[in-house]
Amino acid sequence: MLRSCSCSIHPVAGAHLGAAVPTVSSVIEPAHHGRRRSSTDRAELLVVGRIVTNDPSMPTAEAMAVAGGSIIGLGSRADLEGLTDARTRTVAPDGVIIPGLIEPHMHIWTSLLNLDWADMSHATCPTFDASVAMVKDLAARTPDGQFVLGKLFDPSLYPGETVLTRDILDQVAPHNPVIVMNASMHFVYANSAALAAAGIDDSVVDPPGGRFGRVDGRLDGVVGEASAMMMLVGALPRPTEQDLADGIRRILRTAASRGVTSLREAATGTLAGVGELALLHRLNGVERLAVRVSTAQFSVMSGRSPAEVAAAWADAGVTPFSGDEMVRADAWKVVTDGSNQGRSGYFTQPYLGETAGGRANWTPETLREVLSVGIDAGWQLMIHTNGDAAIEFALTALEELLPAEGGADLRHRLEHCSFATDDHLTRMAALGVSPSFLMNHVYYWGAAFRDTILGPTRADRLDRVASACAAGLRPSLHSDYNVTEINPLQSARTAVLRRTQTDDTVLNPAECATPAQALAAITTHAAWQIHADDRGSLAVGRRADWAVASADPWSSDPEGWADITFTETCIDGTPAWQA
Ligand SMILES: [Zn+2]
Repeated sequence: MLRSCSCSIHPVAGAHLGAAVPTVSSVIEPAHHGRRRSSTDRAELLVVGRIVTNDPSMPTAEAMAVAGGSIIGLGSRADLEGLTDARTRTVAPDGVIIPGLIEPHMHIWTSLLNLDWADMSHATCPTFDASVAMVKDLAARTPDGQFVLGKLFDPSLYPGETVLTRDILDQVAPHNPVIVMNASMHFVYANSAALAAAGIDDSVVDPPGGRFGRVDGRLDGVVGEASAMMMLVGALPRPTEQDLADGIRRILRTAASRGVTSLREAATGTLAGVGELALLHRLNGVERLAVRVSTAQFSVMSGRSPAEVAAAWADAGVTPFSGDEMVRADAWKVVTDGSNQGRSGYFTQPYLGETAGGRANWTPETLREVLSVGIDAGWQLMIHTNGDAAIEFALTALEELLPAEGGADLRHRLEHCSFATDDHLTRMAALGVSPSFLMNHVYYWGAAFRDTILGPTRADRLDRVASACAAGLRPSLHSDYNVTEINPLQSARTAVLRRTQTDDTVLNPAECATPAQALAAITTHAAWQIHADDRGSLAVGRRADWAVASADPWSSDPEGWADITFTETCIDGTPAWQA
């Protein structure tokens, strides 16, 4: 269904990154319907069925006893008899009970921004001309003056990687402001009316890290990176708190429907500013969220220094590990470069057909500053690094800033970490820094990296799960939703098979993960990376967070993992989502 969007979920909070949606207050009121203390060792709940634990000491069980939101017993029914009494409720889910899956990097807020924008993905628009035709069609069906909005446009998959420019969009939509977002979320494309609506003209100065594309001094409508993109989307009508609430619940239910019980929101503050945490707590107070949310606070707010951004979070009561068992603030997000498929990832060697390999969003000095602020505040660092030069850039800074030994157990992460060298993986192990891979880079863009963007040698280094495990790291896999769909088992399948959607070839078989490595990357490793050691497996003392699946991934062929469906998830032993 095609939709032009002058309706429903309306971006965004103001003309600047992190500006507050006026209706979102930042008063944090944690809810308390998480785990309740059990007064006895008696099970409140006995779960009976085919239980797959992901715990090597007892891989399967036929019964699981739950009290106070935790697992107090696992084994045969007879084993657990002593834990039950007449008050114990027994359930027998129809399916395989597996640990709730962990999505360690996705985006609620930027996805809310374009939840109802028209889908312009490669699947919908197989050619560039089809993309242009779709904008023309949307504009024809939208009243003059109202916004036409598209998302998931992906020029990296079209021959010549042609992008939508201001002039092309003006031609097909002369009477409407148009904004189209790149699938990577690192670019938007705007026509003259959209630029004018945002008050942006040729005199605009690039904000730190952001870029307004120009040809001979005239804006060409191509806008790169969050700080510049948010100046543009700030022109859109503001969402109400109800719009945001409805959208958040939709996104969380989508995640739960893929077996997810915990997730990491990877750029908190980018839509409604520091009030986003308070809004999540408020929603959770009204009705428990469908998925536990861990947040990574965005380190950039327009016009503020990193120290001022950290102070703004602290003033709003958002400090490391603050919150509760459903909504917790855990990390400090820093983005060092752009998108590899958008040719804005930062590489040591040029992109094919170009003379440069992109550039960093920071200078070495400003990167050290923004990382230091996060470290000094006690945050886990979550550093977006796509190209090999970006990984080098981040590691060099971390080697200067992190203590050689000891220090708090913060589990700093490199996000995407897409083109790491052997040396990078070794240095990460020495620093205790782990990677989270956007694994579907291989599936969707692997062939494009190999054939048109980077060449085969570099493409082979994409998302090295096997090498990361061999280096002693604990990699996780993520969707970067809505860059790709939330589906941890699809990501795990790609990690094992490394097949590309484009031509079904295998991108570097040497980097194929074992099934066990791939499943650890969406359960225990991902849980560890979001500081949730009590999740990712079912064992005594752990959270009673599980999903009811149509098949057991641990004993089934990875080929079929993406087709496994879910009928229910539970958090602390109570239903969180049902199909
Ligand atoms: Zn991301």
